[in-house]
Amino acid sequence: MSSHKSLDPGAVAGDFFHVEDLLDDAENAVLQRIRTFLAEEVAPHADELWEKGESPVHLAPRIAELGITGLPEDETGTAARSALLNGIVGMEMSAVDPSFATFFGVHSGLSMGSIRVCGSQEQRRRWLPAMTRWEKVGAFGLTEPLVGSGTAGGLTTTARRDGEGWVLDGEKKWIGNGTFADLVVVWARDVADDSVKGFVVEKGQAGFSASVLEGKISLRGVQNAHLVLDGVRVEEGNRLQGANSFRDTAQVLKVTRGGVAWSATGCAVGAYRAARGYAVQREQFGKPIASFQLVQDKLSTMLGNITAAQAMCVRMAQLTEAGRLTDAQAALAKMFCTSRMRETVALAREVLGGNGILLEHGVARFFADAEALYSYEGTRDMNSLITGRAATGISAFV
Ligand SMILES: Cc1cc2nc3c(=O)[nH]c(=O)nc-3n(C[C@H](O)[C@H](O)[C@H](O)COP(=O)(O)OP(=O)(O)OC[C@H]3O[C@@H](n4cnc5c(N)ncnc54)[C@H](O)[C@@H]3O)c2cc1C
Repeated sequence: MSSHKSLDPGAVAGDFFHVEDLLDDAENAVLQRIRTFLAEEVAPHADELWEKGESPVHLAPRIAELGITGLPEDETGTAARSALLNGIVGMEMSAVDPSFATFFGVHSGLSMGSIRVCGSQEQRRRWLPAMTRWEKVGAFGLTEPLVGSGTAGGLTTTARRDGEGWVLDGEKKWIGNGTFADLVVVWARDVADDSVKGFVVEKGQAGFSASVLEGKISLRGVQNAHLVLDGVRVEEGNRLQGANSFRDTAQVLKVTRGGVAWSATGCAVGAYRAARGYAVQREQFGKPIASFQLVQDKLSTMLGNITAAQAMCVRMAQLTEAGRLTDAQAALAKMFCTSRMRETVALAREVLGGNGILLEHGVARFFADAEALYSYEGTRDMNSLITGRAATGISAFV
C-alpha cells in the first residue's frame, strides 16, 4: 500500500484546485477569522440546534463583530469585500452548518439585499445600519402557501392603497427567520396596477402573525414561518421605493441565487470532509475502508463535483465584480451546484454505511440539509427554465 507522502492537503480540505489562493492576504485573514468563529461557536452546537429545531439567534452580536454583514454602500462604514471573498465565506459557513449559512443569508442577503437594491437612500439609511449590527434581524417574504415557483406572475398577497398608506392582506409560507424577525420584506401585488411591490413590515404591527413551520426534515437549524397578514397597515415610507415590478425582486434573487450556488458547494464540502475523515479511520476486513477502490471512487467523484462547482462559482464572482452577471448565469450556477451537491452528499452518506444517517458522524445533517438548498431560491426546474430561455430565446415556463 502506498504511503501518506502522496496525501494532498487541498484534497483533504475540499480545495483541490486551491481556490483560496485567489484571496489576497487581507482577505485570507478574514476567512481565517471566520473559520475560527465557525469552529468555536457554530460547529459545537450545530447538531443540537438542528435536533431542537432552533435558530442560532444568540450568535447575532458575535456575527456582527465579524464585519461580514452589510456592504460599504449601506453607509455603515463596513469594509469593502470582493464577491470572491463573500462567496468563499458563504461556502465555508455552509461547510460547517448549512442552517447557520441560511440564517445568515436570509438576513444579510435576501432581507438587507432587498432594502439595498430596492430601497431609497433614506430607507437604506433607516434600516441597514442597525441590520449590519444585527440589532434588527430581517426576513424575506415572497413565497405563499399556494404560490411558490409561480411567484413572478401569481402572487395572491395584495396591497391596497388607503389614504397615505397601504393595507396588506395574504399569507406567506417558508419565511426563514420569520418567527423572530424585527422586520420582514413582504412582496405583494398592488390591486390598482397589478404590479409587484415590496413593503417593510415591522414586528408587532396589528394584523401580522407568524407561526413556526413544524416537522421539517431539512435545515432544521433555521426556523421557517407561516405568516398571516390580515389588514396590516403600513406607511408609504415602508414601501420600497425602487420596487415597482417583479423585475426588481428578480434583481435581489440574482445575487442571492449566486450565494446559494456557493452555499451548496459548501454543503458538499462539509459532507466530503466528514466522509473522507471517516473513510481513513473506519476499518473493515482488517483495512481502512479508504483503501478500497470503490470507496476511493466515491471520494474522487465527490471531489470532482466540488471542484467543478467551485470553478463555476469563482467565474461567477469575477462576472459579478465586472457587473456582468446575468440572471441566467446565476440560475445555471444554482442549478448546477445544487445538483452536484445532491450527488455528493448522497455518496458521502453511502461511504459511512449506517452511520451515515446518524447526526454524530457528521454527514447526516448535510445529507438532509441539501434537500432544502436544492429547492429554495428557485427549484432546479425553474433555474433550468431560466437557463433554457437564455439558450433558446423561448420561454418554456408555461
Ligand atoms: C427550507 C426552506 C426555506 C425557504 N425560505 C424562504 C424564505 O425565506 N422566503 C421565501 O419567500 N421563500 C422561502 N422558501 C420557499 C422556496 O423558495 C420555495 O419552496 C420554492 O420556490 C419552490 O416553491 P414551492 O415549494 O411552492 O414548490 P412548487 O412551486 O409547488 O413546485 C413543486 C414542483 O413543481 C415543479 N414546477 C413548478 N412549476 C413548474 C413548471 N412551470 N415547469 C416544470 N416544473 C414546475 C417545481 O420545480 C417543483 O419540483 C424556502 C423554502 C424552503 C424549503
